[in-house]
Amino acid sequence: MAIKKCRECGHQISTTAGVCPSCGAKVKRRFGCGSLILVLILIGIIITVISNLHATRQKAILAQQFAQEKQSFESDIEGNYQNLTSLKSRGDTQGAMSIVSQFEKYNRLDYRDTAQIAKELKALSALNEIKTVKSNDYKRLYELNTLLSEYYTGKDTYNSN
Ligand SMILES: [Zn+2]
Repeated sequence: MAIKKCRECGHQISTTAGVCPSCGAKVKRRFGCGSLILVLILIGIIITVISNLHATRQKAILAQQFAQEKQSFESDIEGNYQNLTSLKSRGDTQGAMSIVSQFEKYNRLDYRDTAQIAKELKALSALNEIKTVKSNDYKRLYELNTLLSEYYTGKDTYNSN
């Protein structure tokens, strides 16, 4: 317990005393450095708790949204599959890829032969891209080459020349 002097009579009193025991003068309480730090820590804790609650609620909302989207995707999974195969047969690689990404998103590449179709489309779009990618973009060329090599595993490795 800290001790300080009474402003009125100079008597030594405890800082926690509300009134001076000697003269009865009211003791003004001042917040010290320690109290300020405690208040700041408390504010920090409150902000953290609130933002954690907020994040948890956001996560729950997103999870619910995802579940609803997945459900509507699943309810017409055959229709999505038919769309995919028809886009692919028409040579619309980009359109087909956007449907494949849905199958990936909802973790349904196990449906029929969608996993195989996904592989083929990725190889196809890599082949398309490799024609347009700049010849000095070694990073992308390497990535595309790797992708194609994976697809053609067991067959001839794609030659980037
Ligand atoms: Zn006093």
